[in-house]
Amino acid sequence: MSKKTFAPASLAAQAMGWVDPATRAVVPPIHMASTYLRDEDNAYRSGRVYARADNPTFDHAETTLAALEGGVKALIFSSGMSAATACFLALAPGDHVVASKVMYWALRNWLLTFATQWGLEVEFVDADRNDAVAAAVKPGKTKLVWIESPANPTWCVADIAAIAAIAHKAGALLGVDSTVATPVLTRPIEHGADIVMHSATKYLNGHSDLIAGALVGAREDAYWAKLRTIRAQLGTVMGQHEAWLLLRGMRTLFPRVAWACRSAQSLAERFAAHPMVSEVLYPGLPGFAGHATAARQMKGGFGGMLSVRVKGGERAAIATAARVELWKRATSLGGVESLIEHRASIEGPGTPCPPDLLRLSVGVEDANDLFDDLDQALKRAHNA
Ligand SMILES: *Cc1c(COP(=O)(O)O)cnc(C)c1O
Repeated sequence: MSKKTFAPASLAAQAMGWVDPATRAVVPPIHMASTYLRDEDNAYRSGRVYARADNPTFDHAETTLAALEGGVKALIFSSGMSAATACFLALAPGDHVVASKVMYWALRNWLLTFATQWGLEVEFVDADRNDAVAAAVKPGKTKLVWIESPANPTWCVADIAAIAAIAHKAGALLGVDSTVATPVLTRPIEHGADIVMHSATKYLNGHSDLIAGALVGAREDAYWAKLRTIRAQLGTVMGQHEAWLLLRGMRTLFPRVAWACRSAQSLAERFAAHPMVSEVLYPGLPGFAGHATAARQMKGGFGGMLSVRVKGGERAAIATAARVELWKRATSLGGVESLIEHRASIEGPGTPCPPDLLRLSVGVEDANDLFDDLDQALKRAHNA
């Protein structure tokens, strides 16, 4: 694009305004090659050798995402898990890390098993309490602080700027899983984060049709070089078709997220007054514990994710999920179709998730249809 700086929404819609210099196509091609031609003198002046390291089709998605996050570089990965775990594998056995107690369950399980066996010392804290984070960091020994905001599945909010200051003072990096906030609502690097992670499976792609992950770096430093090497060595790259689909999905990120936020806010307010609901967890509700931090840190909405706690406990929650017709009973989030999930039974034993909780991922359907459908399911489950 021209030298004028366009707003992130414009950059996303046009995937950075890229036009193919050879054909004038406004959509980039998919580069399928797994290998690149070597020069006659044995050099690789193109800078590309083999597609396990990089691919021009990755570049489009990475450049776009780095711009949306206000970062310097991005790397796309085969999944959110491979992106997140790379951040820990780039440390050394013996290093100390502080991580949020409430976080994506599969990453928490990996930290408790593989990462711990491999030699990382992992300490879990309530990341919505700055004093708890400050008490847990060990200056000089803690290398990474890892938070998620809003965090699955209770949507507690971590204060990124305050935690960045705590981490940096101790000599640690701050990594933020920003899957739920998306760059539309929060740009963690502007608040001091060093690494932003996404399950691009979710909002970035937005159509529940691929598995993808991404990291965005505030700097291109030695740690960033390690992340790039880990991706190339483990081969946790995306397929070329998938990388292209991800870029296509990101073009509609802003309108999808804006729509989902509006609907989620209205659903949260309406279900908070529902006779069969004991509590609604949503950062956009003024009574929610993290509301003030969220209001400061999130711009333009509080996200498309909320949870409702159903009166009558686990049985009533599962019975409600069984009776929806429009909401889809499935795990995952951030797609155009709304999902409902009994979260505790997916996370299994040891989960901090309350058993009466239904996690809602709000898509882009009509908000009244979504309300009416869950309302009838709550009433039928109650009367069953
Ligand atoms: C889904 C998810 C992940 C894991 O991403 P995958 O793409 O499924 O590997 C990590 N963090 C959050 C917040 C998620 O929702």
